[in-house]
Amino acid sequence: MDRVTPHRQPPRTGAAAQTPPPPREADVVPIEHETLERLVRVVATAAPLAALGWAGWSAWGGSLHWQDLLVLTITYLLCGLGVTVGYHRLFTHRSFKTTRALRALLAVLGSMAIEGPPIEWASTHRKHHRFSDRPGDPHSPHLDQGAGFRGALRGLAHAHVGWIFRGKDIANPRRYAKDLLADRDLRFISRTFPLWVAAGLALPFGLGVALTGSLVGGLTGLLWGGAVRIFLVHHATFSINSLCHFFGRRPFATGDESRNLAWLAPLSLGEAWHNNHHAFPTSARHGLGRWQLDPSAWLITALERCRLAWDVVRIAPERQRARRAGPSGPLVT
Ligand SMILES: [Zn+2]
Ligand SMILES: [Zn+2]
Repeated sequence: MDRVTPHRQPPRTGAAAQTPPPPREADVVPIEHETLERLVRVVATAAPLAALGWAGWSAWGGSLHWQDLLVLTITYLLCGLGVTVGYHRLFTHRSFKTTRALRALLAVLGSMAIEGPPIEWASTHRKHHRFSDRPGDPHSPHLDQGAGFRGALRGLAHAHVGWIFRGKDIANPRRYAKDLLADRDLRFISRTFPLWVAAGLALPFGLGVALTGSLVGGLTGLLWGGAVRIFLVHHATFSINSLCHFFGRRPFATGDESRNLAWLAPLSLGEAWHNNHHAFPTSARHGLGRWQLDPSAWLITALERCRLAWDVVRIAPERQRARRAGPSGPLVT
């Protein structure tokens, strides 16, 4: 069971007023090898931070080359989109359908981001949507963190990384991801997760060697396209859990604390339109407004035009208007 008690429960309105039943024992399963798992999680999160310091130091010393930035950009986009388009919009929310090969490729690219195997990630995220900012939400910043400024900081820290380090259990995939467990490819990719993590490090090393023709170029490629990229993709995702449930605008009445945070949209590849997303979880587009930048949705549209994506879920304007918070006005601001 999740050991959380409500600290501040946001008011529920409209369709979201139906409170989900409290979390049950079957919602979670204990983490096997808890100490080892925790150690791995701490290393996977802290090592990129240390490498970032090293990368910053070497860049300051003038040893940063355009090839490193190119490797960082390529790997950031590949792994970031693996998470946003693959893990999130395809596997978790079934916002579109695609070919078997592309499903596998997106699962592999998402695994390279080191945010956990795809089935575990999707289970956790579906549980987040089910209990959003209520007991049972794996990473809400609004539960049991105390009052005042310190409580707010503690809540944000818990939602950002604390829940990853402290967790003793994970969302039960048999309860939350039966459809994904039935997918042989996804089961294989989830089971062989460490292999894809290694591939995610080999890729920037190989790109670095190819671009510079030297081993040193491979190593600096590994630093920027490996460690620095992991750090940036991690914290873009973590910020959705923390900042996007705390700061920003709420154009839709979702009954939780999800928010749109415009400045985070480019780095999060469109995921920061998080209030829109909680209002319409299956929508392939999170940036519903005309000027709401959503590179992940652009990729899905491009795939659709190439006939590599179909049954793309789009939300009709009248449905969007019906969910708007407050008096009617412009669609989304
Ligand atoms: Zn959320
Ligand atoms: Zn979601």
